[in-house]
Amino acid sequence: VLNIFWFRRDLRVHDNAGLYHALKGSNPVLCLFIFDREILDKLEDKDDARVTFIYNSIEELKEKLETHGSSLLVKYDKAGDAWKEIVKEYAIGTVYTNHDYEPYAAERDKSVEHLLKKQGIGFETFKDQVIFEKDEVVKDDGLPYTVYTPYMRKWYQKLKPFYLKSYPTEKYLGNLCQHNSPAIPSLKSMGFEKSDCEFPDRNYEQFIKDYADKRNFPATKGTSHIGLHLRFGTVSIRDLTRKANEYYEKTWLDELIWREFYMMILHHFPKTMDHAFKPEYDRIRWVNDEKQFKAWCKGQTGYPLVDAGMRELNTTGFMHNRVRMVTASFLSKDLLIDWRWGERYFARKLLDYEMASNVGGWQWAAGSGTDAAPYFRIFNPDSQAKKFDPELVYIKKWVPEYADFSKYPKPIIDHTFARERCLKAFKEALTK
Ligand code: FAD
Repeated sequence: VLNIFWFRRDLRVHDNAGLYHALKGSNPVLCLFIFDREILDKLEDKDDARVTFIYNSIEELKEKLETHGSSLLVKYDKAGDAWKEIVKEYAIGTVYTNHDYEPYAAERDKSVEHLLKKQGIGFETFKDQVIFEKDEVVKDDGLPYTVYTPYMRKWYQKLKPFYLKSYPTEKYLGNLCQHNSPAIPSLKSMGFEKSDCEFPDRNYEQFIKDYADKRNFPATKGTSHIGLHLRFGTVSIRDLTRKANEYYEKTWLDELIWREFYMMILHHFPKTMDHAFKPEYDRIRWVNDEKQFKAWCKGQTGYPLVDAGMRELNTTGFMHNRVRMVTASFLSKDLLIDWRWGERYFARKLLDYEMASNVGGWQWAAGSGTDAAPYFRIFNPDSQAKKFDPELVYIKKWVPEYADFSKYPKPIIDHTFARERCLKAFKEALTK
C-alpha cells in the first residue's frame, strides 16, 4: 500500500505543506501530476506559455525526485478519469494534496474525494498557497470582510511566527516510493507547442528593498515579477512573507495580502467570477463595440500608455500593475466595454493569471468590486502617462512609432466625451 501526493499549483518539493504531511505518513509516497484536460482543452493558444512553464517545472520536479531514487508519475487526462485509472492501478492508503480555491478546482476536488472515499481511500488536503485562507481572517462576528483595509489590519494582527514556519520536507524524502516512471508525455502529444517566452526568475529579493519608491513606474523593473511563480507554487509564500518581514517592507507585504484578500473573496463569493460584486453594476448598459475591443487588444487605441501596456502584455505575458489599472479603466469606462471581456483577454494572455486577482482587479477598475471608491473616479490615460512615464521611456519602448505622429493612430475615442458618457451610463444603472 502506498500514499499518493498529488501536485497541482504547488510545483516544488521545498516547504510544501501537503507533501510534508504525505511524507510523514506511514506508507511510501508516490508523487503524481495530472495534465488536466478539463483545463488544457479550453486553452485557445496552442503555444500558451503557461503550459510550457508547467511542463518545465514538472521536468525539474521529476529530476529532483529521481535524485532520491523516486520519480513523478505524469498523466494526461481529465482529472476524474485519470483517478478512475489510478485507483485500479495502485493499492492506495491516502491521497494528499494542497487546497486549491478556484471554483473549478473546488468542484473537481469534491468529486475526486467522493470517488476515493467510495474505494475506502483517504483524501487529505492542506493550506499551502496562502498564509491565511477562507475563514481564518474574518470580522469579529465571523462574517467575511468585504473591504481590504480592515481585512489587512486583522491579517497583521493574526500573524504569528508559527504561520511562517517552513515545512521541512527535505528531512523526510527517504519516505518517497522507490520507483521509475514512464517519460512525461510530450507537449506535442498533448496538442501544444513549446513557447519561446522568457520566464521571470525567482529572484524576488532584490526588488523588495526599493519597492515602495519604484513600484509605480513601468519604465523601471521595480516590481518582483513573482506572480507566475506564486501561481504555480514554484516559490513558497511563507519564504516570501518572511523575507518581506526581514526587510520591514510593508508595502510589498500589503500586496501579498491583496492576493489573499481576493482569494478569500472568491472563495466566499464565487459568483463574482462573472458577476459584479455590487449587483447593481450588472445593470450597466455596455456599448461593447467589437472594433474598439480589437483595437484595445492590439494596442491601437491612439492612447500611448494604453497601447504600450497592451503591447507589453501581448509580447511578454506581463503588464505592469499601474498600466493594468489604466488599460482596464480605459476599456470599461472610456470604451464602455463589459469588464468581463477584458478579464477574459487578460486571462488568456497573463503569465501570472490568477482568477481571484484578475477578477478583483477588473472589478476594481470598473467600480463594481469590493472597493469603496466611487464610480466617478475615471483615469485620464494621458495624465497617467505624464505622471508615471514622464520621460516616455516605457511608451517609446512599446510604441516606437509614437515619436512620428503621422504613423501613430488617432485616438479611437475622445476622453472628455467618453468620461461624460460613462458617468451618464453608470448613473443611470445605479440610480434605478
Ligand atoms: P509585485 O508588485 O512585486 O507584487 C508581488 C505579488 O503580490 C504579485 O506577484 C501578486 O501575487 C501580489 N499582488 C501585487 N499586487 C496585487 C494586487 N493588486 N492584487 C492581488 N495581488 C497582488 N495579479 C495576479 O497575480 N494575477 C492576475 O491575473 C492579475 N490581474 C490583474 C488585473 C487587473 C485589471 C489589475 C488592475 C491587477 C491585476 N493583478 C493581477 C494585480 C497586479 O497587477 C499584479 O499582481 C502585479 O502587477 C504582478 O507583478 P509582480 O509579480 O511584479 O508584483
